[in-house]
Amino acid sequence: MVLHTGEVSEPSDIDRIGDTSPRLLDAVDVARDALIDDGQHPGPHRRSVAEGDWAAAHYFDADLAGYRGWQWCVVLAGAPGTDEITVSELVLLPGDGALLAPAWLPWADRISTGDLAAGDLLAAEPDDPRLVPNQIDTGDEFRFSSDEPDPDEVGQVDGEIGLGRRRLLSRDGRDDAAQRWYDGDFGPASEMARAAQFSCCSCGFYIPLSGALHAAFGACANEYAADGRVVSAEYGCGAHSDVPPPKGGEGSPAYDAYDDGALEIVAAAQSLPTG
Ligand code: SF4
Repeated sequence: MVLHTGEVSEPSDIDRIGDTSPRLLDAVDVARDALIDDGQHPGPHRRSVAEGDWAAAHYFDADLAGYRGWQWCVVLAGAPGTDEITVSELVLLPGDGALLAPAWLPWADRISTGDLAAGDLLAAEPDDPRLVPNQIDTGDEFRFSSDEPDPDEVGQVDGEIGLGRRRLLSRDGRDDAAQRWYDGDFGPASEMARAAQFSCCSCGFYIPLSGALHAAFGACANEYAADGRVVSAEYGCGAHSDVPPPKGGEGSPAYDAYDDGALEIVAAAQSLPTG
């Protein structure tokens, strides 16, 4: 792109694109008049830009309320064999430091965790990679413990393999969820887990998930801990079912009970002579 400030530079200083006519680059008044004829009030001329062999754009400050830093751009065109100049376009464009709206982000990319409120609808896209149509093998394995399953278990297994649901979690959806949970507040790297003596996998309050995530995740059923949350088998907390009771049976297991019956007897200080 070539820059030419009409009032400052001479046409001979212009590093032109192609054969742009100096007439077009110097035709500041033609561009300004075009704006005035359009009912605008252009400010100072800022620059002229060669836009090709037979076109030049002129930029003026736009003194418009709400458009700080914007500029009027007037595109002038010429043609071989004629001195005539045609006004091709008038347009308002943002200049350096112009006040602009934030870049457009599609709604689907804007929404984030925690945005969903009661009554909101959030439909998964038809091609949502987290889901697959039912009847497609997701890689999960559900095995019966014998060739003659207990009829009471059939309904539960039906639900696990997705019968009655039009879409099921895909392998990608499952892997993403597993990674999120592992890296999250109830994963092994959390502060709580790092300070814990025991892991969830050995806790009596731990209910393992079924299916492919069985070995790695479960739900905590301790109302004083991560109650109702999916926790990693490697997570842990101080409410683990194997935490030993405190000495004496009461108080916090983290501290010994204070025995206020053990008093140190200290001899009374002699009174100092007075006077
Ligand atoms: S009580 Fe603590 S250790 Fe036990 S399952 Fe819940 S979070 Fe895990």
